[in-house]
Amino acid sequence: MKIYEKAPAKINLSLDVLYKREDGFHEVEMVMTMVDLADRLEMTAIPRDTIMISSQAGYIPLDEKNLAFQAARLIKERCGVREGVYIHLDKKIPVAAGLAGGSSDAAATLRGLNRLWNLGLSVEELKELGAELGSDVPFCVTGGTALATGRGEKLERIDAPPACWVVLAKPPINVSTAEVYGQLRASEIRRHPPTAQLVQAIAAQDYQGVCSRLGNVLEEVTLRLYPEVRQLKDCMERLGADGVLMSGSGPTVFGLVSKETKACAIYNGLRGFCKEVYAIRLLTAPMLAD
Ligand code: ATP
Repeated sequence: MKIYEKAPAKINLSLDVLYKREDGFHEVEMVMTMVDLADRLEMTAIPRDTIMISSQAGYIPLDEKNLAFQAARLIKERCGVREGVYIHLDKKIPVAAGLAGGSSDAAATLRGLNRLWNLGLSVEELKELGAELGSDVPFCVTGGTALATGRGEKLERIDAPPACWVVLAKPPINVSTAEVYGQLRASEIRRHPPTAQLVQAIAAQDYQGVCSRLGNVLEEVTLRLYPEVRQLKDCMERLGADGVLMSGSGPTVFGLVSKETKACAIYNGLRGFCKEVYAIRLLTAPMLAD
């Protein structure tokens, strides 16, 4: 038996770090949503008690370092499953880009294996397993739009933002999330994003209000370390995106755009600047209902 799961990319409309906790994690406040750029996972049940991963992408690990492998091992162990699975990852999301591609693959693996092996786990149970794999995985289990607090695992579902285009561009550099958080001095953050007002603008479906309240405190670090990310932001602003922000720890930058013609113009304008550019829609429907 074979099943398929879609694993969409995540963007942060707001990413704030409130303080560094005693356990070493950062206490965050984030608005997260998904975009229609997705990996596709094909999961095939195999009678042997083993997990195998393949991918057309030559640049990701295919062993136990792969987050889909870790998700499969975790759900298999917890539920005492004796069968195995072969997972093929059709990677479309740029890697180490600030788009949570690995986390979304892990979440899709949990959703998929729950179906493939008829495990009957609730959404809450899948999210709890996800939290053991990474801070972004619980959000990726359900998708939709959420306000995340704690280390990112406490989720409150909120309305989807007004429908719009998203132009994503990733400069040809890889950014380590750990390094960016490592260089962030939480107590020295100069400007915190207006997350509460952003949530209000989303509730009011106020598109301009959403665009003017985007914010990400990690930009301070990544833009300092990688000037090309700042250039890309400036370029997207000059080309006329309505709101521009770096996603996660970067280096991907996204622009929100209301009109398709404008989205195409920005896409074409950026293609000369970097190779990985996408003009896509926000993904307003969740992957799983709460
Ligand atoms: P985040 O924003 O959650 O930090 P990211 O988009 O910056 O995520 P990923 O694409 O998830 O980064 O990849 C981060 C690292 O995880 C890469 O170095 C990659 O080798 C490793 N990795 C493990 N499993 C996967 C996977 N299924 N897909 C992509 N990368 C993976």
